[in-house]
Formats: sequence, structure tokens, C-alpha cells
Amino acid sequence: MSDAGWKVEVLLTGSWRGATSVLLSNRGHHIVVDTGLPHEAHQLVGALKQKGLDPTDIGTLINTHFHVDHVMNNCLFPKSTIYASQQSYDWCLSMYSDVAKDAQWEELALKYYPETPHYEQARDNMAWLRKFALRWWDVKRLGEPSQFRWIETPPLPDGLEGLVTSGHVPGHTSIIIHSDETPTVIAADTLLSREHDEQVLTMIPYNRAQYHLDRARLLALGGYILPGHDRGFLVDAHAVNDATQGVPPFLP
Ligand SMILES: [Zn+2]
Repeated sequence: MSDAGWKVEVLLTGSWRGATSVLLSNRGHHIVVDTGLPHEAHQLVGALKQKGLDPTDIGTLINTHFHVDHVMNNCLFPKSTIYASQQSYDWCLSMYSDVAKDAQWEELALKYYPETPHYEQARDNMAWLRKFALRWWDVKRLGEPSQFRWIETPPLPDGLEGLVTSGHVPGHTSIIIHSDETPTVIAADTLLSREHDEQVLTMIPYNRAQYHLDRARLLALGGYILPGHDRGFLVDAHAVNDATQGVPPFLP
């Protein structure tokens, strides 16, 4: 590939409090994948500054999905093109609007998370989702509709591949950065953390069976994996594929 060679740098390290934000750079073209929560704006701009960059240097954003912790600083980049899945955009906007309603919001939430009754902590989960929506969700911070390019139609920039991983939310997209050496996979919330997804305070999956398939599919790709809410780690695809024989999939 003529311009393979995206440099991958983490801007915001994922944790239980916030989502991973990544800078991709290739010959003067800079992309930010996911932009964090409103109170992380300062940190995000500071991390760019450390690389000698200003938000106006970022030509492109990619949003893996529209959960509040991944998109609330899009507004810092009013000149950027934003690649994202329209399915995830529509689904999340509609979901946040419904759960913010005072009446019947619990019933409405079931439209989006039909498997909620299968989880012990369902009511807590939904209350938490609503609290976050009321506290942080602000459509104005997503950027202008004219900035969006739906990845269902035009492809991502060269060397980048979107992999639809809808188990977390419909249209959720993980990003594969192809490279001559180790590929990088920006998993986002397909793989919340390296080993302990259940300890991360994010939403229950939209579809649990699909969620487990998505996670296994990403790990089987191998390479450097950046989870949505944890530090990156290397994974050996061959070992993952042998995991049924008890070979530990993770490299130290
Ligand atoms: Zn999410």
C-alpha cells in the first residue's frame, strides 16, 4: 500500500472513568478516534499540544459509536470531517432522547437494551445510563450534521478499515490500522478492557451473544489492541486461535 504507515498514539488512556482517544498520523494527515467527555476537553487539547498539534490540525475525526463518553468533544474540531456509522448515530441519539424523558423512560430503555431483564443489575444499569445522559449528553457537542460522512457508504481513509461490531450498540465500529509490521486494532467498546470487562462501568451489551463473538473476532486478528476503557496490549492471533487448547492468548 502506497501510504501504509499510520502512526498510532494514545491521547486519552482508557479507564473505567473515560474512553480511549487515539491520534493517527500519516504524512501530515491527522485523525482523532473518539473524543471523550466534556470535562476531558482540556486534557485532550493538552495531549495534542504535546505532539505539537492544535485542534485545527486535525483534518478528520472517527467516532466508533455515539455513547456519551466517546463523542462529547467533537465540537472542538468544527473544521474536521467526521467518519461514523449512521446506524450508531441514529440509534444513540434516539436512545438518549428517550431515556432523558421523565415519564416511562425505563420502559423506553427496553427498546434499546432488550436484554436488560437478563441482567441482575438491570435497574441500576439503566438508572446509571440515564444519569449520564442527563449530566453529559449534549447534541450540540457532536459537531454539525454537515461534518459527518457515514461509513456505510464512503470508505475510511487509506490504510484504515472499519469492522462493524454491533454487539455493544448497533453500528458500533472498531478500526483496524493496517501496517507492514504489527497491525493496531482500536477496539473501542467491543473490548472494554484486557480481561475484566465486567469491572468497567459502561452499558450492558445491546446483544450479548454478538458481543462475545465480536470480542473473539477482534482478538483473533492479533496485533496491538486498544480497548475502549483500558491500556493497549499485544495479542498473538495464533495463540488466540489455539486458546481452546489452553494456550494463554496474551503476550506479556
Ligand atoms: Zn459504549
